[in-house]
Amino acid sequence: MVSQDLLDILRCPACVRETEGLLVLFKDSWLICQDCGRKYPIVEDIPVMLIDEGDKWVKTAENELPIPPPPMD
Ligand SMILES: [Zn+2]
Repeated sequence: MVSQDLLDILRCPACVRETEGLLVLFKDSWLICQDCGRKYPIVEDIPVMLIDEGDKWVKTAENELPIPPPPMD
């Protein structure tokens, strides 16, 4: 599990300068930005907050996201 304290401070790196970039936890495996729809995987309890990674999943529907997310290269 990712700690609630960490989740509370995380924001979408692509949006945070312009908007709140609030993230919603999805099935304990993904963080979904409410502003741009980028989806950041949580791999081995570490949220991967890279814009490039979020970009990969922006067009993937929530219910098509792999659970657990694929491991990072
Ligand atoms: Zn965003």
